[in-house]
Amino acid sequence: MNHTATKSTKAYGTEAADAPLQAMDIQRRTVTPHDVEIEILFSGICHSDLHSAKNEWHNTVYPIVPGHEIVGRVTSVGNHVTKFKVGDLAAVGCMVDSCRECDYCKDGLEQFCEPGNTLTFNSPDTHIGGRTYGGYSESVVVDENYVLRVPENLDLAGTAPLLCAGITTYSPLRHWKVGPGQKVGIVGIGGLGHMGIKIAKAMGAHVVVFTTSLSKTEDAKRLGADEVVLSTDAAQMAQHAKSLHFILDCVSAQHNIDAYLNLLKVDGSLALVGAPMEPLPVTSFSLILGRRSFAGSNIGGIAETQEMLDFCAQHQITADIELIRVDQINDAYERLLKGDVKYRFVIDMASIKN
Ligand code: NAP
Ligand code: ZN
Ligand code: ZN
Repeated sequence: MNHTATKSTKAYGTEAADAPLQAMDIQRRTVTPHDVEIEILFSGICHSDLHSAKNEWHNTVYPIVPGHEIVGRVTSVGNHVTKFKVGDLAAVGCMVDSCRECDYCKDGLEQFCEPGNTLTFNSPDTHIGGRTYGGYSESVVVDENYVLRVPENLDLAGTAPLLCAGITTYSPLRHWKVGPGQKVGIVGIGGLGHMGIKIAKAMGAHVVVFTTSLSKTEDAKRLGADEVVLSTDAAQMAQHAKSLHFILDCVSAQHNIDAYLNLLKVDGSLALVGAPMEPLPVTSFSLILGRRSFAGSNIGGIAETQEMLDFCAQHQITADIELIRVDQINDAYERLLKGDVKYRFVIDMASIKN
């Protein structure tokens, strides 16, 4: 810990698992030589924010300021910064630092950094102590190596969710080599799922969407689904038995994994990105009989996040959002819990100033 100076910054966070989010003042470091200071324009609301605010993963240190889908404008740079200048658009996702030396960091897999990376919120703050505070805030200070360039042609509010929902779906779709000639399932049409549909479609796959919400069927098609399945209807599910090459599971709560494994072809894989705390039981024969794989994926590295942003710029992909004021966060959390969001809440951070 050094003696970096700090400045008081407006934010929205919570002091306890059962307390609502409210206005609070936090300390941010002033820029050090490699830092970029960003005025936050838009901040997405990920279900991970809600899991963390309510301590559902049992690792939250309070107070917590969530938010890791950040788009803004550079207001100050340290004297060694080369990648950004004042006035540039900039974005920050789930990580703000990592060791930079382990094999994973060297391979651009900072999400798996061996000694542990620094997440945008609720990680130990190596500069000023305490915990890192996230994007529900007027500004943030981040090392330039963990700041992303924002394509000029994309809508800024709709770009914010790419920083988590975008990369978290892009990374496994790339890793499992999704493309033309493949039938790919996306489970759950929330923030992650709706980005998964758009990205898998842009990669050239035949996209089959699984939802528990009949009311989202038409939207799923508009988002790019070739077929939509109501997952609570056994007959509809049976029509897709043993037919999918890959399934990306974006569900935030406990659900039946076997039902989806049985839709995979031989050698097919199901990757979880949804992160409910409850165990997800799997029957051995769901895997054995089709030499299937049950896998998981965690956000994406910094270089891959930039690659995803550039891919989205090329394909004109942004999130479908509901723009809210900062004082509407608690209502948004209520709706998120019910799966009632079309399809990502984004906070207009200008609203924190008045
Ligand atoms: P979200 O917007 O709330 O979407 C979740 C969707 O899951 C809902 O819209 C709903 O879709 C479906 N769902 C909800 N409850 C369900 C239930 N009981 N049974 C079946 N389906 C249900 O959440 P999100 O922001 O996309 O995040 C999804 C999950 O991914 C969260 O657990 C989050 O923490 C996790 N996450 C993981 C990573 C990672 O790196 N692995 C990164 C970010 C987020 P339908 O209405 O279509 O059924
Ligand atoms: Zn997230
Ligand atoms: Zn590392």
